Amino acid sequence: MLSMADVRKTYDTGAVQVEALRGVSLDVDGGDFVAITGPSGSGKSTLMHILGCLDVPTQGTYLLGGTDVSHMSEAELAQVRNRQIGFVFQQFNLLPSMTALRNVELPLVYAGVSAGERRERAREALTRVGLGDRTDHRPGELSGGQQQRVSVARALVTDPTLILADEPTGNLDSVSTRDVLGLFHELHDAGRTIVLITHEPDVAREARRVLRITDGLISEDEVVRA
Ligand code: ADP
Ligand code: ADP
Repeated sequence: MLSMADVRKTYDTGAVQVEALRGVSLDVDGGDFVAITGPSGSGKSTLMHILGCLDVPTQGTYLLGGTDVSHMSEAELAQVRNRQIGFVFQQFNLLPSMTALRNVELPLVYAGVSAGERRERAREALTRVGLGDRTDHRPGELSGGQQQRVSVARALVTDPTLILADEPTGNLDSVSTRDVLGLFHELHDAGRTIVLITHEPDVAREARRVLRITDGLISEDEVVRA
């Protein structure tokens, strides 16, 4: 489903070059639930940006759903992101003035889906995450866990190849954290492909497979549950 071969990323900051990724090779099967963990500065964000087609490698190749995205222009990458990746962020990134339903509809607006179909699919996605009765609430009227559920619905609504979650529980209390992780388990059981980036070991262990990144290299790759 996704395949990285010897991916390197160097940041050029004038005098100093920082090698954030130093040769990462990684294959993720469709339907897997993979966590990427590691200490601060190890390269997690850099890897997440490449996985999410927000940036391209300095060297090496990245195939997403069989397509080589390593040399694409920003416009091409934007298209791949819209069509193939559902993002879940630590800060939710919901628009505060819009209802949950409108927030979930947004990716479909960019995809050019008609208003009627947008509404129907957004309702369906919100029902999937257990918020069928909160469609008209604005983010400020929802708990943190519910807001993160809305952003998971927004990530799902385009039927993406990959759900990429970047520290999705970083702003949640322990109850909401359980709640959102339970939702990821449901999505995994339903056959979704999920990559979860987290610095929290307990959260990482919720995945089926845990990759540890240290100093820009994968240092551990372990299947933690059947
Ligand atoms: P993590 O997410 O695990 O904290 P990062 O991918 O953010 O790690 O960072 C990996 C290394 O790359 C660090 O040394 C960081 O300082 C450096 N780095 C990250 N982004 C940039 C950037 N835009 N410019 C220069 N150096 C960067
Ligand atoms: P942080 O983890 O520092 O709180 P976020 O998780 O909100 O930051 O965002 C991680 C990265 O993804 C940032 O570099 C940001 O520019 C990018 N990003 C945030 N929101 C979107 C979006 N809706 N579409 C594409 N990229 C985004």
